[in-house]
Amino acid sequence: MQGKKIVLTSDPTMMSSYHGGAILGFAATLPKSIMPDFAFRLLCCPPVAAASDGSALLAPCGMRKVEAALLEAGFDRSEVMVAHPDHLDKAIGPETEIVGITHDDPLGKIALREIEEMIGRGEPQNRSKFLALINHPLIKEHMPRLVVGGMGAWELVGEDVPVDHIYLGEGEGDFPGICRSIINGDEVPKVIRGTAVAGGDIPVNRGPTIAGIVEVGRGCWRGCSFCSPTMQTLRHRPLERILDDVTVNLKAGQRDVVLHSNDVFTYGSPGVKPDGEKVKKLFREVKRLGPRTVDVSHLSLAMVHQNQDLLREVSNIVGVGRDQRYMSAWIGIETGSCRILQMHMPRKAFPEDPENWPEIVRDCYRLFGEESWLPVASLVLGLPGETAEDVLQTIELVESLKDYTGLMMPLFFSPIAETRLGSTIGFGKDQAFPEHWELVGLCLEHNLRHRKALYRFYSERMTAGPGVHAALSGINLIADVVLNKYLKRMKRGEPPN
Ligand code: SF4
Repeated sequence: MQGKKIVLTSDPTMMSSYHGGAILGFAATLPKSIMPDFAFRLLCCPPVAAASDGSALLAPCGMRKVEAALLEAGFDRSEVMVAHPDHLDKAIGPETEIVGITHDDPLGKIALREIEEMIGRGEPQNRSKFLALINHPLIKEHMPRLVVGGMGAWELVGEDVPVDHIYLGEGEGDFPGICRSIINGDEVPKVIRGTAVAGGDIPVNRGPTIAGIVEVGRGCWRGCSFCSPTMQTLRHRPLERILDDVTVNLKAGQRDVVLHSNDVFTYGSPGVKPDGEKVKKLFREVKRLGPRTVDVSHLSLAMVHQNQDLLREVSNIVGVGRDQRYMSAWIGIETGSCRILQMHMPRKAFPEDPENWPEIVRDCYRLFGEESWLPVASLVLGLPGETAEDVLQTIELVESLKDYTGLMMPLFFSPIAETRLGSTIGFGKDQAFPEHWELVGLCLEHNLRHRKALYRFYSERMTAGPGVHAALSGINLIADVVLNKYLKRMKRGEPPN
């Protein structure tokens, strides 16, 4: 086996179907020590299917874009492979020049980092699996150049990990040229910064994506100090290309579609005010292709608040309550403090006043409840300058949302290299106020209170058999008992251990 010239892959926490329930992907942030590997693989992150040649039948959307860009740039199909992590023996050989790894959180610095600090049970699954991949015996034997890209590649800058290149930014424009340079033996810097491509130049995928993710556009103009999309200008893809990607997925047997951008309601507009007709056309045309469900990856609460009728119309087009039980979207609440909003996210509430933020959030939750939308909300804890009083205001806001089904994800602030707060020191257990623990406990309580409804919602998209569902229900009950112990302590303002 000579190997493919360019192998694109990732570890099993990224190359998983998650049984069709993306929520299971959060298990990748749990400590490795709390669940045996076979159970983690069987229940939380089952690998995507593999073809007989060792290629992965599903891949993350970003990896598909890089694959398409390489093929469009003139590399031959026989030179490029999206490889299944269990079958690298069919991909990596003496002729392999480059192994490109896509990762969202290779060292576990972003998602639910507080779990590691809170429970104190060692490194998370995603870090452990990533390190195992870059130290894979075939990589050690054949010594291809290791390039790590994707949303989490910044985590590797300055870290002592055996990778040759860290690729920051977008891959479609520059990555093919970087591959040519590496293959030609030219000097290539350790940290590479890929430039942004125009929306119309984001290529159509050559294979289906995990979770049916289809990219609609990139970038966000709201400029929050801690967020990497602020570095990107807002761009959208032409409708035909979006529909082509949906078709690629559906033809491969995917039934669910997730339209991905930083705010789907900005589709086809400069971003402040939606072009309602274009947004509705997007959903209408996607729906016409016949997916079982349609979701969106991200929405801006300010945009929803200003355009409540548009959300209702989109619900109607998608058939929420008729063709699918609910529709989900990741939203950023981030804080209940208008002072912190003003300091770090001055355009988050625009065109409304930051002072109205708690009311904007509450109104949107009311609308989500009426329209059967399931919000997955992020909260950022420990932004520079945050005081106990700010955290109390976030607690008050979260408490006021307790009857609405959804997920609350409290995230310790991590400075991302490419953001305005890039050089700041991140937030950890040692800096936490009692109010931070109270807030984490409250979020945990919120999630446990709604866990049955959440599970019912996610079951609509899940492909797991009855055995896996039964085991997950069992884990759910155990988690309930264990987490209740932690949350009681945290709600008293004490650290969990
Ligand atoms: S609104 Fe969201 S995507 Fe946009 S900059 Fe702020 S956190 Fe980032």
